[in-house]
Amino acid sequence: MRRVLITGGAGFIGSHLADVLLKKGHKVVIIDNLSTGSMDNISHLKDNKRFANHIDTIMNKRLMKRLTDDSDMVYHMAAAVGVKYIIDNPLESIQTNVRGTEIVLELANKSNPKKKVVLASTSEIYGKNKDGHASFREDDDRILGTTSISRWSYSCTKALDEFLALAYYREKKLPIVVVRLFNTCGPRQTGRYGMVIPRFVKQALLNQPITVFGDGRQTRSFTYVDDVVKALIALAKYLGAVGEIYNIGNPKSISINELAEKIKAMTDSTSKIVHIPYEKAYEKGFEDMRNRQPDISKIKEHVGFKPKVDIDEMLDSIIKDFEK
Ligand code: UDP
Repeated sequence: MRRVLITGGAGFIGSHLADVLLKKGHKVVIIDNLSTGSMDNISHLKDNKRFANHIDTIMNKRLMKRLTDDSDMVYHMAAAVGVKYIIDNPLESIQTNVRGTEIVLELANKSNPKKKVVLASTSEIYGKNKDGHASFREDDDRILGTTSISRWSYSCTKALDEFLALAYYREKKLPIVVVRLFNTCGPRQTGRYGMVIPRFVKQALLNQPITVFGDGRQTRSFTYVDDVVKALIALAKYLGAVGEIYNIGNPKSISINELAEKIKAMTDSTSKIVHIPYEKAYEKGFEDMRNRQPDISKIKEHVGFKPKVDIDEMLDSIIKDFEK
């Protein structure tokens, strides 16, 4: 049995990770300030003796020191997430993602022995893709827009997190693993912070207009949360992953127009599919990436990861969860 600390453990991915680690017999402690997480995500765990939660910020260094010292490893999932959330809360997002990660890494390094940190990063790191770019590899260049477009701050803060983690590894021998997540989806994800699948599912079930932003021909590769959790645990266990960066994703992509049609059909919805210009949906000058697809050869080769859940199964389980 290991004692695992999950920052952001009441969030969408963090809470699923907690469930699986508890099922495997580990002790799980979470810290979450409920900025985008929710008590509903962890309420079913409250009677589990191997589970403890702290509703607090990761900026609370004193508490974080105690939690880090008492754990064997840390999954750092706490972050400001969601394109809409980042645009609406630019300052808090930057502070959480930069200062928060600094604290996590500093304390993991100071702890005796040093604690392994699995750092959740993002496919936003890659930024805009060049025309014709098929899929992103971990060592690909990053192409970003100007600083007046706040979307790009998310990519930059997460890149700084990655630099920090890699610097701690190189200079201090802190065992870190960086993972870049590609559009994770599944039950418990809310559309409140902009994520497309829960937004479309809710709109479709309520027979409200399904809001496609831009021309809808942009594509994304959605990964089911259970597949992501499996990958996170496999990488935490694999010694060769220390000091490395991995894409976690499902390489199959779908256009946002197709996604809207699929969700409408699967929910027998009478919703209209409407197209809304990006500037109206987000902010002036907003830039979207046309395609984003992971190259997963590295994680496949190192830990045998292969996503199992396809888009139809993902949507089916999300729709059932919303109906519930
Ligand atoms: N999107 C959309 N309608 C919505 C929410 C999002 O068409 O109501 C689009 C968004 O512009 C992007 C894609 O869906 O092209 C995925 O958006 P999301 O915010 O889920 O993730 P991203 O890949 O942008 O981080």
